[in-house]
Amino acid sequence: MNQTSKTVEINESEAGYHESENLRFVEFVIQFVREIRKIRLQISPVLTTMPLPPEAIYSTEEELYASIQAWAAHHHYAFRIGRSTKIHNTVRSRIQYNCDGCGPPPPLNHPDNSLQARKRQRPTRKTGCQFSIAAIERTNTQWELLHRPGKEYSIHNYPPSQSISSHPAHRKLAQAEMNQASSLHNAGKSNII
Ligand SMILES: [Zn+2]
Repeated sequence: MNQTSKTVEINESEAGYHESENLRFVEFVIQFVREIRKIRLQISPVLTTMPLPPEAIYSTEEELYASIQAWAAHHHYAFRIGRSTKIHNTVRSRIQYNCDGCGPPPPLNHPDNSLQARKRQRPTRKTGCQFSIAAIERTNTQWELLHRPGKEYSIHNYPPSQSISSHPAHRKLAQAEMNQASSLHNAGKSNII
C-alpha cells in the first residue's frame, strides 16, 4: 500500500516537472516570436525597397540606361529619364534618372480620380517617390553613374509592383527587344534568300 502511494507521488511530481518544462518552452516560443517580429519590423523597409544601382562607368548613355533599368526591373521598379542639364562651362551632360513613381500624386478631388477617368485610362503611377540617380558624361566614351547625396534619393516610398509589365518603361524595352529580335530574324531570312 505504501509502495503504491509513493509511486503515485513520484508520477505527480514528474507530471508537474513536465508541465513546468512545457510552460517554459511555451514562454520561450512566445519570446522568440516577439524577437522575430521586432527584427522583421526593423528590416521591413529594406525588404520593400531596392538598393541603389552600384556606381560605375559605362561607355555609352544607352548602356548605362539599359543597366539601371535591368537593375530596377529585377527589384520590380522602373526608372524614368529625368532632367538633363549641361555641366557648367562644358558641352557634356548630366542626366537624372528618377523612379517612375516620381512627381506629386494627383489630389483626391482631381478629375483623374473620377470613376470615368479611372475607367478610361491607367491609374497614375505618381506617388511623389524621390528615388533617383545621376549620370555624368565625363568624356565621349565615359558615362559615370553616381548616387545623389541625400537618403531620400535611395528609398522608394511605395512597395515593389506585382508585375514589371505594369511599368511603361519596361513594356517599351520589352517591345524594343522584340522588334530587334524580329529584325534580326528578317535579316537572317533575307541572307538565306
Ligand atoms: Zn520609387
